[in-house]
Amino acid sequence: MGFRARGFVLAGDDEPADLIVVNTCAVTAEATRKSRQWLRRVHRANPLARLVVSGCLASLEAADLARESGVDLVVENRDKDRLVEIAAAALELPIMPELAIVGSANPLFARGRQRAFVKVQDGCRHACTFCVTTLARGSERSRPLPEIVEAIRRLAASGVREALLTGVHLGGYSDATGADLGALVRAVLRETDIPRVRLGSLEPWDLPPGFWGLFADPRLMPHLHLPMQSGSDAVLRRMARRCKSAEFARLAEQGRAAVPGLNLTTDIIVGFPGETAPEWQETLAFVAAMGFGQVHCFSYSPRAGTRAASLPGQVDADTKRRRVLELQALAQRLQQQAFAAQVGRQTAVLREGQPRAGQPGDLFGYTPNYLPVRIDAHPAAAPVGAVMEVRIRGIDPDGAALRGYLSEPAG
Ligand code: SF4
Repeated sequence: MGFRARGFVLAGDDEPADLIVVNTCAVTAEATRKSRQWLRRVHRANPLARLVVSGCLASLEAADLARESGVDLVVENRDKDRLVEIAAAALELPIMPELAIVGSANPLFARGRQRAFVKVQDGCRHACTFCVTTLARGSERSRPLPEIVEAIRRLAASGVREALLTGVHLGGYSDATGADLGALVRAVLRETDIPRVRLGSLEPWDLPPGFWGLFADPRLMPHLHLPMQSGSDAVLRRMARRCKSAEFARLAEQGRAAVPGLNLTTDIIVGFPGETAPEWQETLAFVAAMGFGQVHCFSYSPRAGTRAASLPGQVDADTKRRRVLELQALAQRLQQQAFAAQVGRQTAVLREGQPRAGQPGDLFGYTPNYLPVRIDAHPAAAPVGAVMEVRIRGIDPDGAALRGYLSEPAG
């Protein structure tokens, strides 16, 4: 999480990483041997990556480990809380501010054996005034369509159940043959047997022609994260965003008419320079009217090199804090409405590897439209990656997830 907060993005399952952190164990001689073996394997598979080692073995045998081939840095357990900071300083890592990851789906979705991230595109041609992506990631490039299809075939063969297509500017996907995102999704659905395909964050003005028709295939999951950033057209203009609030409303209406159960989620930047009280009220009204299933709030902070950093009317910290709380309360209400609409329904839930924080012992997964569900069943009832038929019986008392039970044996 510390790396993510600094704008780092998790590498896709089939792409090389720039930095790898290995947490070692030394509880037994066997664990020590395996940790060392794992380190060598990681280095062989990623010879160009910077390798950071931490954990118990790193504490017991720091000097020895530092001499291991490929190890760039050893962080002992006592410094583990500061691992990100230490690695950033020692390895002179480029620290990208958190908004560098606007446009990336990685912070939104859980990954694991059940779900693979497939990066199809990088860079962005746009120049939203708050965003450092263009500065940090350069111009757009898209991975060839056949290469992506092949990668997903391999993932499906290895047991992955869901491919999440990601890109900094996913809607800008266009390979050398001119295939756009629509063509890519169609090819993945036609030429692979991956059970589920999901789209990462998409700029709302970038949906390809015939987009809603893609969802006629039930393997394309009915959830879209469309980062709107504000509901005020004046703020959107200052942000140099390309979608006005009324255009978004039309889009949401079309999507919901075309795709049953479509869950729309979004990002909102709170306290953008010059955001007046009436403009903020416009954003709140917009978010409420759109009925987002989830809202990620970012409190605006100026990023060096961006145009927004030098805009007049920077909003003070107290106002931003108050607005974030208001938006979070609204988002919470909307999420409960989205949950309530599911109660009594039967739905297919993909078993995740990790239970949602604070609820160990439950079976946990997401519905096709990416709502979290805790299931009354022992974790052994279904393996990670199983798609389970679940009857939703209510909302968990903490309000953080739906509650359901297995209505058919897991498959
Ligand atoms: S569209 Fe705007 S916010 Fe999204 S990645 Fe491009 S510049 Fe950044």
